[in-house]
Amino acid sequence: MRIPVIAGNWKMHKTVKEALSFLSTLRSEPLPGNVETVICAPYPSLPALVEAAEGSGIGIGAQNLHWAEEGAYTGEVSARMLTDIGVRYVIIGHSERRTYFAETDESVNRKGKTALKHGLVPILCVGESLEERESGKTKHVVREQVVRALDGLASEEVKGLIVAYEPVWAIGTGRASTAEDAGEVIGFIRRTVADLYDQQVAGEVRILYGGSVKPGNIGAFLAEADIDGALVGGASLDPESFRQLVAAA
Ligand code: 13P
Repeated sequence: MRIPVIAGNWKMHKTVKEALSFLSTLRSEPLPGNVETVICAPYPSLPALVEAAEGSGIGIGAQNLHWAEEGAYTGEVSARMLTDIGVRYVIIGHSERRTYFAETDESVNRKGKTALKHGLVPILCVGESLEERESGKTKHVVREQVVRALDGLASEEVKGLIVAYEPVWAIGTGRASTAEDAGEVIGFIRRTVADLYDQQVAGEVRILYGGSVKPGNIGAFLAEADIDGALVGGASLDPESFRQLVAAA
């Protein structure tokens, strides 16, 4: 039984004060207990959020990290800095980082390894562009991204990570994938993991859909057997809408 995951990706939104106000509203009523609930926030809010989320079961995540242990990497943040303040998850290889910050499958692989080594749960993002989808390359692209991201990882490591399938054309556009299409690609990702490892690993790894998920459409995604939850941008910024997403899972 895979526990569903609802993860909010706040991207570059919310000051510390705004983050704390969100969390206090979210905590004003109990959240369902059978869902892994995660909020991935900008670095400055992380310490306050970890503290404010204590005892709530809500996990706090970062949106990036550097692969090196430490060193002369101006502007970067290490895994140890994140675990030190109680962060438990980290998004890796989000398409915005691939597009605007030149992240590659290789950097994604290195970051994933570092995150796992430090006990962080990587939320590994993959997904095709509109052009790739329209030229029929979706599965090829996604398979390559998965193979390269997982290169050199042991079965036990892969079981513990989370994959997020986020078609680039569905992110922030209001144009979500259909649940059937997302279910098909996510089923394909699971079969790719089975090819690379085995059925048991493929049966344990959680795979989420992301891209214009809202309270109104999340039910259809969750109804797909292979979809284990959602990575949500815009609709995770409002506590009531985020609560509805968690309640749907
Ligand atoms: P939206 O939910 O705003 O489309 O963003 C999805 C996303 O990129 C989550 O990581």
